[in-house]
Amino acid sequence: MATWETVIGLEIHAQLATKSKIFSGASTAFGTAPNTQACAVDLGFPGVLPVLNAEVVNMAIKFGVAIDAEITPNSVFARKNYFYPDLPKGYQISQFELPIVGRGQLGISLDEGVSKIIGITRAHLEEDAGKSLHDEFPEQTGVDLNRAGTPLLEIVSEPDMRSAKEAVVYARKIHALVQYLGICDGNMQEGSFRCDANVSVRLKGEEKLGTRAEIKNINSFRFLERAINFEIERQIDLIEDGSKVVQETRLYDADKDETRSMRSKEEANDYRYFPDPDLLPVAVTDDDINRIRASLPELPEQKRQRFIVDLQLSEYDAEVLTSSRETAIYFEKTLAQLPDQAKQIANWILGELSAALNKADINIEQSPISPDGLSNLIARISDNTISGKIAKQVFEAMWQGEGSADSIIEAKGLKQITDTGAIESLIDQVIADNPDQVDQFRAGKEKVLGFFVGQIMKQSKGKANPGQVNQLLREKLNKGRE
Ligand code: ADP
Ligand code: MG
Repeated sequence: MATWETVIGLEIHAQLATKSKIFSGASTAFGTAPNTQACAVDLGFPGVLPVLNAEVVNMAIKFGVAIDAEITPNSVFARKNYFYPDLPKGYQISQFELPIVGRGQLGISLDEGVSKIIGITRAHLEEDAGKSLHDEFPEQTGVDLNRAGTPLLEIVSEPDMRSAKEAVVYARKIHALVQYLGICDGNMQEGSFRCDANVSVRLKGEEKLGTRAEIKNINSFRFLERAINFEIERQIDLIEDGSKVVQETRLYDADKDETRSMRSKEEANDYRYFPDPDLLPVAVTDDDINRIRASLPELPEQKRQRFIVDLQLSEYDAEVLTSSRETAIYFEKTLAQLPDQAKQIANWILGELSAALNKADINIEQSPISPDGLSNLIARISDNTISGKIAKQVFEAMWQGEGSADSIIEAKGLKQITDTGAIESLIDQVIADNPDQVDQFRAGKEKVLGFFVGQIMKQSKGKANPGQVNQLLREKLNKGRE
């Protein structure tokens, strides 16, 4: 394996979050009855004319600006000719030679503070096709054209990734970015964000790229990683067996965890692109670009820097907290309640909360504990009402829906014991019960201090304030030593 190098380039289709389609006023809503949302323009009936949705252009420019790309002043829509039941008009309107977004780049963070720049070749606008439904009618295929004409931004990367892991990190970063920008809802189950992976292998040190296979329409990050890894092994096995990789389109079958040939290059369509005579070039001025740049929200990279510099979070914490827009929103809402507790909040979100979310297999937006709820819990730790340890118990109860941190602490009697008198009597009792250990301590064996603290915490059911226990215990034990 060590002699082979993997090369990956991704083509990502992000569905732009407009209300109406790219060239018509039909709705883009997902999940309505088949063929209720495709109008004559989407179907390309004779005599209709497409009219470009201005919002689609704004969204593409937002993306271009966010990846430092060149924006094409006069990009051109082209017809990509092919017939398929879910594309009955016989061509798809796309962009070919002059895409709206030109060359750009995106930094990704890999393990141990290693980062890498991935080149983005282009991003172009196009209309989506309909859907063929193979499971609805026995022996027949249904066609639902509701999706026809839905706006897509196709984001094409350079072949800059060297492992399935890198490809996933890059895809996740694009996924987060389009959501931060508010141009795509990122819903992968509904197909709003899907990915084609181009994979090839070559001997290490070789300059020339190997022959690639393109794996189509992957709709989860887990499948992306698995499909690429399967494909790498398949290609290496082929070459090591003295055979050759052929350029082709393949499909990933998640049930069997393998890729299968769909069509070879010889069978590939000749798209005969030509400029669409019904559409004018898309004129974009510098003023447009500047206006859009000024309107951008804070992007993940800027947020990450701000978290490190202003909030003094570690690179790792800042990276993970900004890796999804929803996580960043949750963090900032919690921080709004406790502005000087950034580190504590990060620890809770990346620790207990993430673990609970993973276990329940839900996203942070669906968390049963709200940012206000979490800030209430953390505030009770910092004002010494409860210890960090008891807080985990309270968190668990909050997760189960038993109420707010305050009400759970009250109902379960979890308030920390900070009354010096009460703690002293606990200490006196434990000292009296364990004369041997007292002698050991006084003979210089500092380690038994831990034993005493453990006993006292146990007696108090975890509620004694650990700081006070340590301090008072030391005083009492030392007193006897003098
Ligand atoms: P097409 O439009 O036929 O799919 P492109 O040349 O536009 O072909 O490439 C599509 C994607 O494939 C890009 O993301 C590119 O980086 C990637 N790619 C091209 N050649 C290779 C290769 N040999 N190995 C891996 N990826 C490649
Ligand atoms: Mg392709």
